[in-house]
Amino acid sequence: MEQQLSKRLTAIYEALLARYGPQAWWPGETVFEVVAGAILTQSTAWENASKAINNLKRRNCLSVWAIRSLPQEELAEIIRPSGYFNSKAKKLKAMVEWLDDMCGGNIEQLARIDTLSLRSKLLSVYGIGPETTDSILLYGLGKSVFVIDAYTRRIIDRQGLTPAGGTGYDDYQKLFMYNLEDDTVMYGEFHALLVKLAKDACRKTPLCSVCCLSNECLKNIERGAP
Ligand code: SF4
Repeated sequence: MEQQLSKRLTAIYEALLARYGPQAWWPGETVFEVVAGAILTQSTAWENASKAINNLKRRNCLSVWAIRSLPQEELAEIIRPSGYFNSKAKKLKAMVEWLDDMCGGNIEQLARIDTLSLRSKLLSVYGIGPETTDSILLYGLGKSVFVIDAYTRRIIDRQGLTPAGGTGYDDYQKLFMYNLEDDTVMYGEFHALLVKLAKDACRKTPLCSVCCLSNECLKNIERGAP
């Protein structure tokens, strides 16, 4: 752990928590709802994924069993509001097939598998990348991993904390996981707070005058950070 980085990240977390309060993520009543939500929110706003989830709930189709039984075309129609609905229907089907193989569809049992091994297995499922995988692990199964998304990268870059070793998903993830205490609750809260900040102030065109992290950032923006 690098003390300087650790202090900066902790200060960012504390400032965000003080400004916005706990975010109560992830909205989902069951582990499978988190899994489905993580797929449905790919490349779209949560509001659209949420409409698709509500459609599934209304038809009593938000379960491993129901998705397994539904024809893919019918599933695609139900989740249409999430966008890319044909592709997402295929991904949901692939996930359910994987869950059947791994744990007979009894998803809670996955929590018993060690995190690294489960992560690499999830990454092998059709259409499931690192952000979706880590969202499922953290918010669905309570595993200690940090979720990286485009918002996180933007804020970290503007804060002048771009990882020295590279700019891939894993580089940003290590920045957090190597320099913060291993704390699942805090990881979940921190990611949610970064999303909140990106929507509230750290937009494509940032509203730095209303941002609680402006002290360090403004120096970097003047230097031409993205
Ligand atoms: S000060 Fe501006 S660029 Fe920095 S995190 Fe806040 S909104 Fe983003």
